[in-house]
Amino acid sequence: MKDTKIVYHAHKNNATYRGAEYLLTFEEWYGLWESSGKWEQKGVRGHQYVLGRKDPTKPFVVDNCVIRTQSENMQRASKGKPKSVNTKRLMSQAKQGKEKTELHKQHMSEGQAKAALVKVTCENCGKVVTRQCYGRAHGDKCKSF
Ligand SMILES: [Zn+2]
Repeated sequence: MKDTKIVYHAHKNNATYRGAEYLLTFEEWYGLWESSGKWEQKGVRGHQYVLGRKDPTKPFVVDNCVIRTQSENMQRASKGKPKSVNTKRLMSQAKQGKEKTELHKQHMSEGQAKAALVKVTCENCGKVVTRQCYGRAHGDKCKSF
């Protein structure tokens, strides 16, 4: 185990670098870890524990800090934010070739049915088509061009 002071300063520097206001003292920081009982499971892998903020818009203070798994921390951090093209591609790749559950298939089918209810009018040929059809064969790709 690395010297705890070094770990504390690394965390503080990292948070400050990312633009967060870091107001935890070493004692407070260590107290959070000690009371969590997760110090031995601290780490950056998904199932390991990190010290995160309940409200990421607020500074690192004891009341705003929580020890949770890295994957939970990442989920919270990315909640509601649009994903980058690269992230979407990686997510897509990770799913490729995997068998979908019946429930998943049902959800996909429902989503398609819902999407098919939304109609748009092509500005080039004047046809009223589904949004999917519009993206595939109308608008910029319309044959009447
Ligand atoms: Zn068209």
